[in-house]
Amino acid sequence: METKQCLICSSTEIIDPIDPLHSECFGCRMCITEWIVTKIIETRASINNAIPCHANDCADKVTINEVYKILTQDYQERINEALFKVYLIKDIRKCP
Ligand SMILES: [Zn+2]
Ligand SMILES: [Zn+2]
Repeated sequence: METKQCLICSSTEIIDPIDPLHSECFGCRMCITEWIVTKIIETRASINNAIPCHANDCADKVTINEVYKILTQDYQERINEALFKVYLIKDIRKCP
């Protein structure tokens, strides 16, 4: 059996395919969470938005919610924080 490693940090504690499209895009919880948090802030995304895959050579997108569902609570909280930050930014912008 081949060893699956995170594409970012080489950890072998990877989360299983985010979705069938990304069966080769291995990533550990920590890196995937970091990636999502960065992208949420960068693109002001919300939970139902899709962000680019963390794998460099992957052109497909991942829906934040799909990954969120398979993460543990600690990591979900980090994503919640990022979503909340973005929500606040958006809210402020709406004001005249
Ligand atoms: Zn990693
Ligand atoms: Zn991918």
